[in-house]
Amino acid sequence: MSFVKGLKCRECGAPYPVEPVAICEECFGPLEVDYDYAAIKTQLTREEIASRPKTMWRYRELLPLDGDPAVGLQTGCTPLVRAERLAAALGVGELFIKNDAVQHPTLSFKDRVVAVALSKAREFKFEAVGCASTGNLANSVAANAAAAGFPAYILIPDNLEKSKVTATQIYGATVVPVKGNYDDVNRLCSEIAGRHPIAFVNVNLRPFYGEGSKTFGYEIAEQLGWEAPDAVVVPMAGGSLITKIYKAFGELSKLGLIEEKQTRFYGAQATGCNPIAAAVKAGTRDIRPVKPDTIAKSLAIGNPADGYFATGVITNTGGWSEDVTDAEIISAMKLLAETEGIFTETAGGTTLAVTKKLIEQGRLTAKDRIVIAITGNGLKTQEALTLEDLKSIEPKLSAFESAAGFTRAATAAA
Ligand SMILES: *Cc1c(COP(=O)(O)O)cnc(C)c1O
Ligand SMILES: [Zn+2]
Repeated sequence: MSFVKGLKCRECGAPYPVEPVAICEECFGPLEVDYDYAAIKTQLTREEIASRPKTMWRYRELLPLDGDPAVGLQTGCTPLVRAERLAAALGVGELFIKNDAVQHPTLSFKDRVVAVALSKAREFKFEAVGCASTGNLANSVAANAAAAGFPAYILIPDNLEKSKVTATQIYGATVVPVKGNYDDVNRLCSEIAGRHPIAFVNVNLRPFYGEGSKTFGYEIAEQLGWEAPDAVVVPMAGGSLITKIYKAFGELSKLGLIEEKQTRFYGAQATGCNPIAAAVKAGTRDIRPVKPDTIAKSLAIGNPADGYFATGVITNTGGWSEDVTDAEIISAMKLLAETEGIFTETAGGTTLAVTKKLIEQGRLTAKDRIVIAITGNGLKTQEALTLEDLKSIEPKLSAFESAAGFTRAATAAA
């Protein structure tokens, strides 16, 4: 059964029925799902959740489906890794990595939003699905659509990483590169959605899609023993994920599942596409769109749909937002790999590099229990890295010893 009361405008509060619409007709504000929390509170306990399978659907009362999920049944419950070696390298105390680089089935947190959106598309009886994507959403919509038997129409900027394009095409989706940036692609998708009956997960299904991101937050709290952390650092593209993690902690505390706590929210962007970070630093909530130019392509949204709400979450919780250069992103990708054995994509490098900067600024300290959101996998953005050229050796012990830097003296004794 569903606990959804309807949709509601996030700006003016106008109510709407549960339909594939995303924008308020009165004020053009975004619509969001409205739940009956009093009813959920009578049913949902920590024990009940703990008794369920380890997938994102263990929080199904807080997701906007009428019936059982149809797509992404195995998604969710990724590891929360205690990162002691990384913490020592950064000079902080309790540091955790929420690792969606190993999310099922396409190795990014987008599998969470797509599981909800495509399940909802089925409930709305759509026969085709699609998205405007910076890469990871394309991968996830294509894979989940294939598994669910939906034809998929996927529009991407024409400068994406090769692996992200391959990992979309392989599923048989119709992939359409567009000459332009994400904002051009998104505008085109809105136009297509007005003409053709396609469920564009982040356009006409956006209110439902965004709800899937909340499970990233529920899992963090449950994995910390039903407690929110002191601080989270979250990468921002459209600014949706950070607002949904905030919403998740708020809901858990409203339901009495965690104690109320003022978690500080920190947003991470690349300097080459930093409209939200720039607004926070300028002390405003008005987003000035930018033209993206960064290796963090999954975060390259110059005109972020949820930018206004993201700045609100960041400033109202006592957090901050920073941006980092492409060089800083790459060194952070290496640092995470070398200290924790986790290979993240450029977005994860952005998050860690910003974390480092926030520690240097004294905004995050050794007293904080910190969670950083690692949202995507490094195998997808390999062209961002230039590692040392490797030289082949003859299959001889001496050749190995000299390649590995062992001295002859040490081995001569044997
Ligand atoms: C899409 C994406 C984000 C940011 O998502 P928003 O909700 O649009 O802010 C972060 N990390 C990765 C890897 C992504 O693909
Ligand atoms: Zn409105």
